[in-house]
Amino acid sequence: MEIPFHKPYITEDEITGVLDSLRSGWITMGPKTMEFEKMFGAYIGSRNAVSMNSCTAGLHLALKMIDLSEGDEVIVPTITFTATAEVIAYFRAIPVLVDVDEETCNIDVTKIEEKITPRTKAVIPVHFGGQPCDMDEIADIAERHDLLVVEDAAHAIPAWYKNRTIGTISDMTCFSFYATKTLATGEGGMVTTRNDAWAERMKILRLHGISKDAWKRYTKEGSWFYEVIEAGYKYNMTDIQAALGLAQLRKVEWMWKRRREIAGRYTKALAACEAVSLPSVKPDRESAWHLYTVRLDPERVPGGRDLFIDELRNMGVSTSVHFIPLYRHPYYRTAYGYDRSAFPVSEKIFERTVSLPLYPGMTDGEADWVAQSVEEAVRRCS
Ligand SMILES: *Cc1c(COP(=O)(O)O)cnc(C)c1O
Repeated sequence: MEIPFHKPYITEDEITGVLDSLRSGWITMGPKTMEFEKMFGAYIGSRNAVSMNSCTAGLHLALKMIDLSEGDEVIVPTITFTATAEVIAYFRAIPVLVDVDEETCNIDVTKIEEKITPRTKAVIPVHFGGQPCDMDEIADIAERHDLLVVEDAAHAIPAWYKNRTIGTISDMTCFSFYATKTLATGEGGMVTTRNDAWAERMKILRLHGISKDAWKRYTKEGSWFYEVIEAGYKYNMTDIQAALGLAQLRKVEWMWKRRREIAGRYTKALAACEAVSLPSVKPDRESAWHLYTVRLDPERVPGGRDLFIDELRNMGVSTSVHFIPLYRHPYYRTAYGYDRSAFPVSEKIFERTVSLPLYPGMTDGEADWVAQSVEEAVRRCS
């Protein structure tokens, strides 16, 4: 059996939607993008949803809204994708790394305050694998130190924290629709916020800084006249992506339930396998289950993580590692002088972690095969 790490869940619904966009003759940002924003905002329960061509673009514009400046500091977790921190570097500001909680891989909220200085402007919590961070604690710290909270919710469609949907809690929340994410449009992103002024300005900045409804200038109601009011960006979504997004959004809850079922199946099948520890979700929140990440016990798997991954691949099971901690990458190490000994929890997690395949189109049989292969790989590595 060959089991890829990820497969987007594309059905006739997506194909029909894209064909409809192509046949309509409107292939960049237009009516479908507007409809997708409306539907996404309604689904999340946010009064504003601003689409982008990526989550990275969304994070960039979110930091622009808070006037991040050279030398400012922004707190981010060590274990995340580079996008979370690279957008800080765009402003010549400094990503300040905080170690993660051993159980959830989310930012350790007990270690945030010791990193706050008078230059700290914001914190970007990342909902690792789809499990929401400790948002009450983060909101409390942010309030006491006058920081803004921009959530990196690239893994968190849909996810809930104390019955609140991720995307409705903080100042701004950035979602990703990248090919491997839980709602996929190939490339794409969305920022939700209850701040109308920010939403308006992000809509302007994502399309060259052109004032008001730039996309409409080629429609019948539109006008050729426009004014550029800021040096903007080319960060807009297209109607082809939005057509995919609309189709994906219609089954987003079904896809979530299916991922949750597969995660539950893994947990049951591997419960007795002492060599691996399994992910858990805190009782007051729901994970989007973007990732199912296990950790190897180095004493029971002396061959190590890399060999384990090779053995799984030999059995046809593709896996991945989320993530190489930021301080281990040459760019971050050199630019900011991070020292890995300052992040013992991340180091411990990194050498043991493996993400198993998890996607809604997976059958029960495939999930069982993955679990059996994990047990066999453990045997081969011990
Ligand atoms: C995928 C990802 C991003 C970036 O999303 P894009 O839409 O590809 O820009 C940001 N943060 C995290 C944690 C991610 O996994």
